[in-house]
Amino acid sequence: MFAALAAASTWCACGQGKGGATGAAGVPGPGTAGSMGSAGTTASGGGTASGGGTASGGSTASGGTASGGTVGGNGGGAGAAGTPGAAGTLAATGGRGGAGGTSGAAGTMAATGGRGGGTTGAAGTAVASGGRGGAAGGGGGAGGSSAALRIFWVDTEGGAATILATPDGKVVVVDAGNTGTRDAQRVADVVTNQLKAARIDVMIVTHYHTDHVGGVPALAGLVPISQYLDHGTPVETGSAIDNYLALFSGTAAASRTVVKPGAKLAFGALELTFVTSAGAVIDPPLPTAVANATCGSATSKSNVAGVENPMSVGFVAQFGKFDFLDLGDLTWNAEQMPVCPTNRVGVVDLYQVNHHGLDLSSSPQLVHSVAPLVAVMNNGASKGGSASTFDVLRASPGLQDLWSLHRVTANDAAHNADEALTANLDTPDRAYGFSAVIDPNGTFTLTNGRTGASRSYQSR
Ligand SMILES: [Zn+2]
Repeated sequence: MFAALAAASTWCACGQGKGGATGAAGVPGPGTAGSMGSAGTTASGGGTASGGGTASGGSTASGGTASGGTVGGNGGGAGAAGTPGAAGTLAATGGRGGAGGTSGAAGTMAATGGRGGGTTGAAGTAVASGGRGGAAGGGGGAGGSSAALRIFWVDTEGGAATILATPDGKVVVVDAGNTGTRDAQRVADVVTNQLKAARIDVMIVTHYHTDHVGGVPALAGLVPISQYLDHGTPVETGSAIDNYLALFSGTAAASRTVVKPGAKLAFGALELTFVTSAGAVIDPPLPTAVANATCGSATSKSNVAGVENPMSVGFVAQFGKFDFLDLGDLTWNAEQMPVCPTNRVGVVDLYQVNHHGLDLSSSPQLVHSVAPLVAVMNNGASKGGSASTFDVLRASPGLQDLWSLHRVTANDAAHNADEALTANLDTPDRAYGFSAVIDPNGTFTLTNGRTGASRSYQSR
């Protein structure tokens, strides 16, 4: 167990949230949906959304380019946000429908005192009393109750950046995309605008490739980071690695911990257990370990696309019955470590597809043994998303849905996620993300930041 982490961040009023886990919606108010509420780009206090009532939407609600937005605000107007996303279909009395995104729905069940939000995405699917969904700011703000775990997948155009917002107000960021400020700013937008957090409590760097560690120094300049976790000594060289390691030298050296398999991070009901790091694997296995009948048919792929990939820090995040597996860019042969001859992790509910869906990873021995209900692929339009990876995923027993951050330009429809579950279609790219809200009862809901549409699943 790691030492106690930094003081609670301040992203959320839900520290005092008194609402139920799913925040019962109030009585739909008398507000009549407007046909095209327009949220002003300067819509401080939610703008004057026409249509749908008094609309005091998110305090930071800038509707972006979207019309719509803060319809369905105070007074519980059941307002529809502007085109094309509906907002606040059940915004409760006193609640706020939130800022409708460019195309997203908001506040489908914003409860009393709650607040939907999200510039680009659906928000507040179940905002509890006192809770706060994502305010304007992109990424598909998922509303959440004070007791929920939230996960965000930020679009880094084929890199990786995954954010976990814990029920007790901590923010864990796993990788920060590519070198420079673009991806770092996208991560920071979620942390500061949607989560209202003052800091990142834990920054996990899975490995030192530029599409994972590259954005970290810039992110550190945008949001204070309390603690860094990584696999230790780099096995490659490069400026991205140098710039990252520079964070830990000098008088203002940051706090860094090298992860060993078996180490845990606990945040209330959320527990992260590290299962891989620096080429080592958790031993003994997790209590959820299961036999793996597929190992006998394993094939080998020796290409690792850089020796940093198999060093990836991997973890399983457990929250009640819910399990989320993120193994970074662990490559095909290295994937056998955690799952053969015994699957040391066990069955999971949600799987972040290894290595952006490249066919150097996601072997059947891994995927079909952890057997996720839902897979999220952090690919780019031309990075990752190999056709054979889609085949492996679609053949995975029990898989209900596959979500993909980008339509893969080179693939046919059969080797892409369904359009409804794809965040970014063809250009121009709007950097839409995905978000998930995981309730303590095991229900988890993913939302597409582009459409605002959500789907719910039940953890096993
Ligand atoms: Zn990568």
